[in-house]
Amino acid sequence: MRWSQYYLFTTREVPNDAEVVSHQLMIRAGMIKKLAAGIYTYLPFGWRSLAKLSAIVRRELDAAGALELQMPAIQPAELWQESGRWQRYGKELLRIKDRHDREFAFGPTHEEVITDLVRRDVKSYRQLPFNLYQIQTKFRDEIRPRFGLMRGREFIMKDAYSFDVDAAGLDKAYEAMRRAYCAIFDACRLDYSAVEADTGTIGGSASHEFMVMAGSGESAVVRCPSCGYAANVEKAETRREPAGEAHPPQELQEVATPGKKAVEEVARFLKIAPRRIVKTLIYETEKGLVAALIRGDREVNEVKLMNHLDVERLELASEEKVREATGAPVGFAGPIGLSGLRMVAEESIRHLTNWACGANKEDAHYTGVNPGRDVQLSEFADFLLVHGGDACPRCDGTLEVFRGIEVGHIFKLGDKYSKALGCTFTDEAGAELPMIMGCYGLGIGRTVAAAIEQNHDADGIIWPRPLAPFEVLLAGLNPDDAEVRRVTEGLYDQLREKGVEVFYDDRDERPGVKFKDADLIGLPVRLVVGAKSLKDGQVEVSLRRDRAKHLVAVGDAVAKVLELLHA
Ligand code: ATP
Ligand code: MG
Repeated sequence: MRWSQYYLFTTREVPNDAEVVSHQLMIRAGMIKKLAAGIYTYLPFGWRSLAKLSAIVRRELDAAGALELQMPAIQPAELWQESGRWQRYGKELLRIKDRHDREFAFGPTHEEVITDLVRRDVKSYRQLPFNLYQIQTKFRDEIRPRFGLMRGREFIMKDAYSFDVDAAGLDKAYEAMRRAYCAIFDACRLDYSAVEADTGTIGGSASHEFMVMAGSGESAVVRCPSCGYAANVEKAETRREPAGEAHPPQELQEVATPGKKAVEEVARFLKIAPRRIVKTLIYETEKGLVAALIRGDREVNEVKLMNHLDVERLELASEEKVREATGAPVGFAGPIGLSGLRMVAEESIRHLTNWACGANKEDAHYTGVNPGRDVQLSEFADFLLVHGGDACPRCDGTLEVFRGIEVGHIFKLGDKYSKALGCTFTDEAGAELPMIMGCYGLGIGRTVAAAIEQNHDADGIIWPRPLAPFEVLLAGLNPDDAEVRRVTEGLYDQLREKGVEVFYDDRDERPGVKFKDADLIGLPVRLVVGAKSLKDGQVEVSLRRDRAKHLVAVGDAVAKVLELLHA
């Protein structure tokens, strides 16, 4: 491809809202153009990269036995009402009306549509199992679209859905997809981890997220360097210290703590460690108020707490509600004498003795609290937010926390949708059973953005070859020089004959501009023809990654390019 005939306009200007490097570079390298918040045009240069990823995805999913189809983007509201998600999905669901005032949604995901399709076609165990996928544009009205393709509102996703007769079948389908995902991200040469993820309130079924490690990632991932345990922080667990604080019990005392609300303030004032204070957080849920007790030096993992309480809404109660429930302003809540609401204690305080807590009275705390004697705690749960430095739950290693970009998510759905929508089959014995489903998402644009987050330097993108829009950048430096032009054109033809994807900078630009642009667009191998070295019959071949220059004879240039490309 000749640059002079291509639609690629690089720019130095970075819009203010481009906070992360992949967003900045995709704009500067002419890959995407914003139309509206979270809505982008994929320009030819960017589209090639997405198309390459899509081809890898297709190759690996086809190899795993999945079948490609294409479902409508526009989905009737009735299906979402049947699954119960028309209400529950909230504002992320873009709702639209047709000319007859009938309600539709622009699909953010396709569980309803695929389940409806299959329930109408499939009746017998003999027709199962299968796995269907599509690569398609989704719309989610994200509250904070940002980071370019990483969190768009309109974005391209590969979504797959497996249907099996039982849990054992689902296990097999899930494992095949887990492997296919590894093959895809390996093929893209990404540094990633498959981490255990939260499965929500749906049930005990498994879920993994594929995380590309990057400082700009929105997810926190916990990893144990010793045994390889890896989990999303929402799901991560830690090994608890065994029982055993054998301090003699102190006397329960109410002490005045004027104006001391925050744990650190109270700890300093009482001259005790924050870990000896028990925080009481009052939450509001759709099932009423809940008091959550946790050690003062730790934070609540709200996802775990929601799962434990089996609620869909959890938020810290308003000042007014706290006052109603505890009789005191925010900052002085405690379990002693608290009644009329569910009280759940974090495991971190199970064995804690002689602690301090709020006294449900303005400007007062208790010290010397001992459960059993002073307060009855009957409900314990794990809702601890794991930190780096906590103990690994699987071995005696220590956990580390990383930032990651969630590029894929696989999930054992079980019968959630098949039950809600009546997607059943008859088994060998003639019984009618719901199909057992799995769903498997992979963000196409987000993965390309993640690849750039992991592969760039101060000058631009450093494409991993499998995702590069083109493989080789060929530049002729002195286009007025007839010999330079002749040799460059010749190399262009030879490379194309060899099947190399070559992008030929034949523009009438200064060498400095061409080098800067070459760095910015970051094609893996660069072949430069300049008048000076050509006098000695040589051209320059280099890798974008290390920029080490190899001067080779014109006749050896193509071989050198191929060698570097496949190195
Ligand atoms: P997130 O927690 O980042 O919002 P999600 O859990 O909503 O993701 P899924 O519903 O599992 O995402 O979607 C599957 C995949 O689609 C994700 O792993 C991600 O790669 C991609 N994806 C989801 N939301 C977006 C978005 N707003 N922009 C780009 N890609 C997205
Ligand atoms: Mg989301």
